[in-house]
Amino acid sequence: MGDVFGELIGQERAVETLRRAVVGGRHAMTHAWLFVGPPGSGRSNAARAFAAALQCPDGGCGRCEQCRTTLSGAHPDVTLVRTEQLSIGVAETRAMVASASVAPVRGRYQIVVVEDADRVTERGADALLKGIEEPAPRTVWLLCAPNPDDVIVTIRSRCRLLKLVTPSDDAVARLLVERDGIDPALAAHAARAAQGHVGRARGLARSEDARIRRHEVLTLPTKLGSLSDCLVAAQNLVSSANADAEEICVPLEAREMASLQEALGIGGKGTRKPRHAQAAVRDLEEEHATRRKRIARDSLDRTLTELTALYRDVLALQTGAGAALINQDLVDVIEPLARRGSPEKTVHVLDRILETRTKLEGNVAPQLAFEALLVGIVRG
Ligand SMILES: [Zn+2]
Repeated sequence: MGDVFGELIGQERAVETLRRAVVGGRHAMTHAWLFVGPPGSGRSNAARAFAAALQCPDGGCGRCEQCRTTLSGAHPDVTLVRTEQLSIGVAETRAMVASASVAPVRGRYQIVVVEDADRVTERGADALLKGIEEPAPRTVWLLCAPNPDDVIVTIRSRCRLLKLVTPSDDAVARLLVERDGIDPALAAHAARAAQGHVGRARGLARSEDARIRRHEVLTLPTKLGSLSDCLVAAQNLVSSANADAEEICVPLEAREMASLQEALGIGGKGTRKPRHAQAAVRDLEEEHATRRKRIARDSLDRTLTELTALYRDVLALQTGAGAALINQDLVDVIEPLARRGSPEKTVHVLDRILETRTKLEGNVAPQLAFEALLVGIVRG
């Protein structure tokens, strides 16, 4: 612990590369980086820690003003681009390039962190490419994406790749104990259940509610009997995902709408608005709908991840592979499922889960996709 890299658990190689860059050895530093790694490996945390270390006079002490303001998002020379939208278009990208070209006022560098570089549209990428190809002398770009292939090749090829890995269960558990003061047994359980996803592990360790939800999802297959069970269960999953999205989005939406109205100089509902204002309000409402959909989909995606882990465990028992179970705590649920089916059927269910994920990405109505999945599970 201690310095800004302390929380990047299980990422020793990446941290070493970043430390060398901060010290600024020959060829160690470059002005464009692409942070890649599986969900939960901490791409944006790593990028932010690197930004702090670059600004800090002591290479990322974690205590000085440069470090603290960078990590909290308040540093005037560090722009954090996080997007709740599905894509980053040309206007937003131009704004990034503009802020990147300004000389730093307080820090050593002008840094732009783009958390979802995989969401930059093709036209956006043209604008971004200009910024990366012709950087101002003190500008540093830190792009983040799940995979290098997710980023448009012309951009990717100009960035130095920094690969993060899935941290081990032990490393995640240790972090929960040391930093969040979680009980060691609970930390170990949460780390294992989250399969290397640090944020998810923390959520499970801290929230009883999250643990109950996980338990409900994982015991679902044993409770499904009839067709109508499947339809009801699918509906419950979808409505709880929508409720998640609502909880996150409603306060954000209110804030954003209020500031848009203020910027446009228009009042609340009922007053007559000029046409350009109506269009701007409509655009924002559309963005809001898209964001809600995306967050609900993330929640459903988590459900699929949990079901995948469950059936991997079932398969492990059926094939006697002897591998440790991911959901050790649910061995009472997993054993009967394993006895009831065959490895072939389990593989078939795993395929169906994968198919469901593809359907969701392809914008099939979630309700239909989950109905089909659950019916498939029941019929084996
Ligand atoms: Zn510092």
